[in-house]
Amino acid sequence: MICSFCHTATVEWKGPMSALTHTECSNCGSTNCQVQDPTEDEQPCPHCGTAVRWKEPECCTCHINPPCSACVNAPLECPNCGEEFHND
Ligand SMILES: [Zn+2]
Ligand SMILES: [Zn+2]
Ligand SMILES: [Zn+2]
Repeated sequence: MICSFCHTATVEWKGPMSALTHTECSNCGSTNCQVQDPTEDEQPCPHCGTAVRWKEPECCTCHINPPCSACVNAPLECPNCGEEFHND
């Protein structure tokens, strides 16, 4: 993983394999400093800055004919303040 401080690919998981506790950069010694891959769909809420996500549609029929119109037209929702955003 890439370190967000020194920009080298020297960040590795630390701790026992069954219970990894944190990441550490072996170059600068920072912990939990890896660059997070931005998810393409994610955009910040204009109110609180939290990454919004697709709202779970109530009448999804993807089991019949995916993707269903409910999913295609699903609004984005902020998990923090509950604001919905519709792509017009
Ligand atoms: Zn580093
Ligand atoms: Zn669906
Ligand atoms: Zn928000």
